[in-house]
Amino acid sequence: MIVTGDFDPNLIITNADGIFCSFCQQKLKTFHSAKVHIERKHLIPRTVVQCKICSKTYIHKANFRQHVVNVHEKRGDRNLVENYGIIVANETC
Ligand SMILES: [Zn+2]
Ligand SMILES: [Zn+2]
Repeated sequence: MIVTGDFDPNLIITNADGIFCSFCQQKLKTFHSAKVHIERKHLIPRTVVQCKICSKTYIHKANFRQHVVNVHEKRGDRNLVENYGIIVANETC
């Protein structure tokens, strides 16, 4: 079992009944999905990307970029979006 980064494996409970989140006792299928669940729901991310248009926050730039494409480009906010979803418009208005 490989644990990447500084994630604490003690946050995941494994017993005869399965794998559980130590925060909310939710049952999870695999160790990996438990790790992802805990990182997303219960841990404060080290780096956060924030959308300047709607203030949503994302841990991963890829997710943020997807958000920009799916939400803002479709709504016609494309002029607010520069390369790779970096928002520049707020700096000038
Ligand atoms: Zn949980
Ligand atoms: Zn947004």
